Formats: sequence, structure tokens, C-alpha cells
Amino acid sequence: MADEANPISIPYGRQSIDDDDIAAVEAVLRGDWLTSGPSIERFEQAMAEYVGASGACAVSSATAALHLACIALGLGPGKRLWTTANTFVASANCGRYCGAELDFVDIDARSYCLSIDALRHKLEQAERTGTLPDVVVAVDFAGQPCDWAALAALKVRYGFRLIDDASHAVGARYQGQRVGSLPAADFSVFSFHPVKILTTGEGGMLFSPDPALLEAVRMLRTHGITREPALLTRPDEGGWYYEQQALGFNYRITDIQAALGLSQLARIETFLARRRALAARYDELLADLPVQRPWQMPGGESAYHLYPILLADAATRRHVYDALRREAIYCQVHYIPVYWQPDFAKLGFAEGLCPQAEDYYRRTLSLPLFASLDDAQQDRVVEALARALREC
Ligand SMILES: *Cc1c(COP(=O)(O)O)cnc(C)c1O
Repeated sequence: MADEANPISIPYGRQSIDDDDIAAVEAVLRGDWLTSGPSIERFEQAMAEYVGASGACAVSSATAALHLACIALGLGPGKRLWTTANTFVASANCGRYCGAELDFVDIDARSYCLSIDALRHKLEQAERTGTLPDVVVAVDFAGQPCDWAALAALKVRYGFRLIDDASHAVGARYQGQRVGSLPAADFSVFSFHPVKILTTGEGGMLFSPDPALLEAVRMLRTHGITREPALLTRPDEGGWYYEQQALGFNYRITDIQAALGLSQLARIETFLARRRALAARYDELLADLPVQRPWQMPGGESAYHLYPILLADAATRRHVYDALRREAIYCQVHYIPVYWQPDFAKLGFAEGLCPQAEDYYRRTLSLPLFASLDDAQQDRVVEALARALREC
């Protein structure tokens, strides 16, 4: 129970689970297939239809999806992966799993996505030194699509492959087209972690405009094994026969998770509408406070995974974060520049590499935003924020 001294805590993000979700999971638990069953294909087909892709491959997490995408795109030792400094570590780790060399691109001061100018500049330099990237992972940060037209043009000019880490952007649109089916992205990746737009507990998904790439990740998610008669290289020895044709993994999703995802997908428009309404409400309620509200690029339609505000300086951010926490409002910071992590510093990265991402990191704070956040809770967040700012 909530009381004045002990209010109900408000996290920055959380899942919305209803009775239909629970019934869907229960039905799987009472059925024949807990994994590798028909719920997975149903979830894949429904998601593909939703984003306007020809197919999908569901896996155990977005991290697994990113890893498989990198392998399918031929990443390995001697190859290079670039990504934005302002992302979760998984967008970079996928390159390291493959033994590729990493580098980071600075962010745009307004969208906080990878900066097209910074990328172009870095590509020009890399062309001169023969160190162009093989794969670029662009992240639709906070749910806002990157400048995909510009990325597509640079891809053609410099010949790299593109992965859309759309972990934040399930349901977002770019120039009217749903993220997940943007043709410039060789792979698009979703996350179904509980703080994201839709959840399966843990889970991820891959889309690709190239059916052969999608087939490759399908095989890699289950040990590189196939039973497909047309694909077998040795004579089929009977019903038990299968072949491992590449070194894969167990990155399968379960039917329990897929059923939850399918049930959640039925409410996607409700989730997105509520997130957008809350973001619009924050825009209004914060208008007179000394904070910078998130800017939206024309032509994009964000899924509003996050609502990151910018504060005056690092000290203000620290004060506000702590003050809200004392009132059981748990904001979060997205993100510490990836290469600041000690495990990346070991690779030779140092502070100063991406000044814009570093300045942004020092001042940013993600306010609570999720589909089941109600107006009264949001008011409580804004009042606490206003109070904290008056103390600065
Ligand atoms: C959440 C997230 C991931 C990882 O997702 P998992 O499903 O937890 O593996 C990757 N990239 C970004 C940008 C994310 O926010």
C-alpha cells in the first residue's frame, strides 16, 4: 500500500501483462510444445506482417540476434564493425564475439542517434587509410528512427552492410514505413526485454530483406543444424537424419515466450498510443522547466521507448537523479558511452573519442515512461523534478 512516507515506486520502464497474456502462456504450458513448436512460427509471421517484412526469425534475445546478424554478414577477425557511442553494450559486443575490430561514431546533438556528419567524416578518413568498416550498427535510439535515407546513401557509397539495432523501436516508423522492414538494413533487430515496447521475458527477433540471410540466421540459432531435404549435402538416411552445416548456437526462443509475445502484439497499438500520449504530456508539463526535451526528426515516428531529458550540467543531473530516487522515482541514464566501459578501455579506447556523446551522457536522464504509467504518477514525477530543480 502507498502512503505519504512510503509511496509506490515508479521505475523508468516496466512490462504490461494482462489476463490474456497469462492465459496464452498457460495454454502453452498445458500443451505439447514448450519449445520448437508452432507458437514460434505464429509469432514470427505475425511480427513480420506487422512490420511489413517477408519473414522473421525469433531468438533468445536481441544480443543473440545481433551476434547472428554479424556472423551472417561475414564479420570475423580482420573485419571492422562501427556503432554509435550512445547505446547499450550489446550493439558493440556482437562485433567482439566475432573477433572483429570495433570503432565508435559520435552522436547527433539533437536526435542522440549516430551523427551522419560524424559518420561521413570518419568514412572519408577510413577510405584514405584502407580501414573502412564492414558492418555499421545503427541504433534507433529511444525509439526514434535514425536518418535512414542518409545511411542508405553512405552504404552505397562506401560498401558496408547495415544492421538496424531497433531494440527501442518496435512500432516506430520512418517516412511512413515500419522499422523492421527498412530496405537499407541488411538486418533489423528487436528486443523483447521487459523494459522494451513488447515483452517475451527475454527474447529478440531478426528481419532481413534478403531471404538467404534470414535462412542463415534460422540455421545458426539452432546449432547450424538443418533437416531441410533440399539443403542436405549427404544422402538422407531416414527420418532421424540432420546435418550440422555451420557452427551455430542454441539461441532458440521458447513457445512459452513466443505465445506471450504474440499475445502482447495484439495490444501494440494501445502500448504505442499510450507512450506517445505520455511523451506529449511530458512535452507540455516540462515546457517551463530548465530542461531540454527530446527533439523529433521530421519524417520519423518514435516508439518512445525512452524520454531522455537534458539537464544543465552533470551536478544538476546527479542532484535530480538522487532527489527523485529519494521519492521512490527510479530514473535511469541511457547511456554511458560504450567505450568508457573498463572492458572497452582495455582495447585502447579513451575518453574524448566522441565529445558529443560524452557531453550528452553527463547531462541526460530518462524519465519514467511505460504503457501502464498513469497521469497521476506522471504528475508525481514532474512535481518531484520541478522541486529538485528549484534546489539546484
Ligand atoms: C536492450 C537492448 C539490447 C539487448 O537486448 P536483449 O534482448 O536484452 O539482449 C541491444 N541493443 C539495445 C540498443 C538495447 O536497448
